[in-house]
Amino acid sequence: MIKVEHLSKKFGNLVVLRDVNIEIREGEVISVIGPSGTGKSTLLRCINLLERPSGGSIFIDGIDMLDSKTDVPKIRQKMNMVFQSFNLFAHLSVIDNLTIAPIKLLGKGKKEAEEKALGILTMVGLAEKACNFPDELSGGQKQRVAIARCLAMDPEIILFDEPTSSLDPTMVSEVLSVIRRLAKDGMTMVIVTHEMDFARDLSNRVLYMDEGIIYEEGTPEQIFDNPQKEKTRGFINRIRSINYHITSPRYDPHTMSAEIEAFCEKQILPLKTRQNLRLIVEELLRIYTPFLESTFLDITLAYSEKKQSVELVLESGGDGVNPLDKNLLPDKSAESAIWAMMRGIEYQRVNGKNRVTLLLQ
Ligand code: ADP
Ligand code: MG
Repeated sequence: MIKVEHLSKKFGNLVVLRDVNIEIREGEVISVIGPSGTGKSTLLRCINLLERPSGGSIFIDGIDMLDSKTDVPKIRQKMNMVFQSFNLFAHLSVIDNLTIAPIKLLGKGKKEAEEKALGILTMVGLAEKACNFPDELSGGQKQRVAIARCLAMDPEIILFDEPTSSLDPTMVSEVLSVIRRLAKDGMTMVIVTHEMDFARDLSNRVLYMDEGIIYEEGTPEQIFDNPQKEKTRGFINRIRSINYHITSPRYDPHTMSAEIEAFCEKQILPLKTRQNLRLIVEELLRIYTPFLESTFLDITLAYSEKKQSVELVLESGGDGVNPLDKNLLPDKSAESAIWAMMRGIEYQRVNGKNRVTLLLQ
C-alpha cells in the first residue's frame, strides 16, 4: 500500500533522512519509535508530501507520488494525518470541522456529510459535542475530534504523529482507545508514538528510527525484548528504566518513592512485585545511608520483559567494597530479608564505582 524507497530529506545542510526504505501492507499497524530529532515527523510529512523529499521515491497503491503528473491532493485524501497539536479549525463547530472537507473536496451534500459525521462522532464518543467549538473541549476530546475529522474523509491510511504527547496523562487512554478501535476495524495506520505499551500490543511491526534510516525493524517482541543493534538496545533500556541520583543523606525519599510507584504502574508490575520493590529500596537505602555522607548513590530500576523481572542497579563511589557485603552489614536480618526477595545479587568494581546488581524474584 505504501512503498518508500531510498527516501532522503535535507533541510539546507542538515541531513534528516538519509536512506529510508519501508513497505506497508493493507491492514498493517506500524509504530515508529526513536529518540526525538531523528526525523520521525519529517518521515510522515514526506510520505504525504507536506514536505518535499530531497530524493528517493514514494508509491501509494502503486502510484508514484513524486511524479509531476500525479494528482497529489487526490492521493492525499486516501492518506490523512493526525497531528500532535490537533490542528482543528477553531472558528468551526465540531461537526463543521468534520464536514468541511467532505463538502469542499469530495463534493458531498451538507446533509449527507452531517449524517456521516454524526455517525463518526458517535464512534469516537463525542456525538454530544457536535455543536460545541474546539476551545470548549478537553485535549483528549480535541484529539478525538481530529481523528473523527480524518475518518470523515474515508481514508485508506492514517498517519499519526505523536497523537497523545501533548495530552494530560489522564486523557491519553481515551485517545488510544479510539486508535485501538480503528486497528480492530482493520485500518492501515502508521503511528509515531512514545507510548511503548501501546506500540507493543497494537502494532504488527515496530520501526526504530535513528541516524536518518530505519535503524532496526521487527515485531514488537523483537524490538522491545530482543533488539539486535546497539542504539536500539540503548533506547529501549532508557525508556524501560528510571534512574535516581542521590548525593546526600538528605535526599527526598517521597519524590523517589513516587517516581518508583509511577514507573511500576507504567510497566504494569504485579502488586506483589511492587510491594517487594518498595521494601527492598527502603532496606537498601538504610544500608547505604552511612555511605551517603561521603559519596553518591545512583539507583537504576529497569524492567526486563524477557526475564520477567525487575533489575536494580546500585552504583556508588568510595573505596572498592561491596556495600552489601555480609561482614559489613550492621544488621544481619536485614540482609537475609533482601536475599529472600532476590533471584540474584552480583557485585562488580566498574570504572572506580561499586556496582551491585540485584534481580528481583
Ligand atoms: P522527530 O519527529 O523524530 O523528533 P523531526 O522530524 O521533527 O524529528 O526533526 C528532525 C530534524 O529535522 C530536527 O533536527 C529538526 O530540527 C529538523 N527539522 C524539522 N523540520 C524542519 C524544517 N522545516 N526546517 C529545518 N529543520 C527542520
Ligand atoms: Mg516529531
